Amino acid sequence: MIIAIDGPSGAGKSTLASQIASEFGFLHIDTGAMYRAVGIYIADRCIDVADAEKVEEALKGLKVDIRFLNGMQLIYLNGHDVTMRIRQPEVSMLASNVSKIPAVRNFLVDQQRLMAAENNIIMDGRDIGTVVFPDADLKIYLTASPKDRAERRYLEQIEKGFDVKLEEVVADVQRRDSQDMNRSVAPLKPAEDAVIVDTTGKKFEESFAILTELIREKMKLQ
Ligand code: C5P
Repeated sequence: MIIAIDGPSGAGKSTLASQIASEFGFLHIDTGAMYRAVGIYIADRCIDVADAEKVEEALKGLKVDIRFLNGMQLIYLNGHDVTMRIRQPEVSMLASNVSKIPAVRNFLVDQQRLMAAENNIIMDGRDIGTVVFPDADLKIYLTASPKDRAERRYLEQIEKGFDVKLEEVVADVQRRDSQDMNRSVAPLKPAEDAVIVDTTGKKFEESFAILTELIREKMKLQ
C-alpha cells in the first residue's frame, strides 16, 4: 500500500506520517530530507544553484541513502550521517532552491519509487501524489493557515534549540511555499484525487484521528 501526503511546510506532514507509520506498521519516508541533503551537498561545494548544468554534473558524485533505526529515518550523504545537519533552519531554503532543478528531481524520484517496491509506505513531500506515485492508494493534501504553519515551524525550531525569531520563520515559510508552488517542474499542488485535510486550529490528536480514519476506510475497500 502506498499513502501519499503532500502539502506546504508546517502543515504537520512529517509528524503525522511518522505516527501513522508506527500505528499501521508502514515505512515512513520523508522526501524533504532528501532534497535537504542535496541542498547541503551543493552548498558545501559552493556550486551556484542558478547553474543547473553544474548542479547536474555534481550529482554524479553524490549518493543519498536513507536508513532506518527503530523506525526513525536517518539520512546519509556519501556515507556521512547528516540527519541532524539537514534540520538547521538555513537548509530549508537550500533544499527549495535545488528542488527546482529537473535533474535533481529525477535523481531523487527514481530512488523514491524504488523504496516502495518492497514495503508498505507512507511518503510525504510536495509531489508524491502528483508525480512520484500518481497511482497511490490514498492521497492526502495536508494544509493549514499560513499563521498556524509558521507558528508550528517556529515552535519546532525553538524546541530543537535553534535561536530563531518568529518573523524570520514566517518570512521563510512564505518564501519557500511560494517558490515551491510556482516552480515549473512538479509544483506543489493537490492531486486531483487527493483528500484535502485542513489542520488549522486542530490539535495533533484530531488530525491524527482524521487521517487514520481515512486509511482504515481505504484498507477496508482493498
Ligand atoms: O519537507 P521539507 O520542508 O523538509 O522540504 C524541504 C524542501 O524540499 C521543500 O521546501 C521543497 O522545496 C523540497 N521538496 C520537494 N519535493 C518533495 C519534498 C521536498 O520539492 N517531495
